[in-house]
Amino acid sequence: MSRRDNNEGLDHWQLIEQSLSQLSTRLDRIETRLNQLETQRDRQVVLNERRSIDDSGFGSREISTTPQGAIQRDILIGVCDICKKRLYDDEAFRICSSCGRRLCASPSQCSVIYQNKTICIECLKTRFIQLNKTLYKTLVCTANEVSSTTAISEITHSVEEEVRSALKRLIDLGLITKRGFFVFSAYQVTARGMEAIALYRQVWGSDYDTLVFDAELRRYILQKSGVVL
Ligand SMILES: [Zn+2]
Ligand SMILES: [Zn+2]
Repeated sequence: MSRRDNNEGLDHWQLIEQSLSQLSTRLDRIETRLNQLETQRDRQVVLNERRSIDDSGFGSREISTTPQGAIQRDILIGVCDICKKRLYDDEAFRICSSCGRRLCASPSQCSVIYQNKTICIECLKTRFIQLNKTLYKTLVCTANEVSSTTAISEITHSVEEEVRSALKRLIDLGLITKRGFFVFSAYQVTARGMEAIALYRQVWGSDYDTLVFDAELRRYILQKSGVVL
């Protein structure tokens, strides 16, 4: 082999080596670029979802596009106006026939059926039969023929003065009537009073203090009738 042949052979190897080196550099650049694109794609917001309470309706979905080209999905969630429990699309709900509040369906303490109409508990308390818990417990006592203010005071854990004003208020509301005079007087529940008990039992019947009250009233009645506990 001549010296020239040797030089030509060396040039070929150098060229191949140079080309491979360039190819490797290009591959590195491509890989770097791909990584950059990948990172950018991760950061790009493609779908944005927002959830908020629907103040005026029963919930809805809206899909729109942002100026950046992303998809914006707005989900408005309907909730019960009293207890704020979520109203799901496939669940029954109620509307107060008096104020139009959206209400969760039965079983619920948020509404009652009054005179064949759905009434929310707020309307029941403020517009129809204005009871608070002391009035309710006093009413239940009189419905069970407990007329002594001392006894009602013990059972309801209220001071006697409070019981006296509760009895007066119940008379004014037409839920009880007073019969007899002085120590011989007794209270009698009216038909409207019985209706009030049935309505409010749905609302407060399972509250802890009401359950305690029921138990104490039962014990008082049993003791009065001579049953030894
Ligand atoms: Zn509710
Ligand atoms: Zn209402």
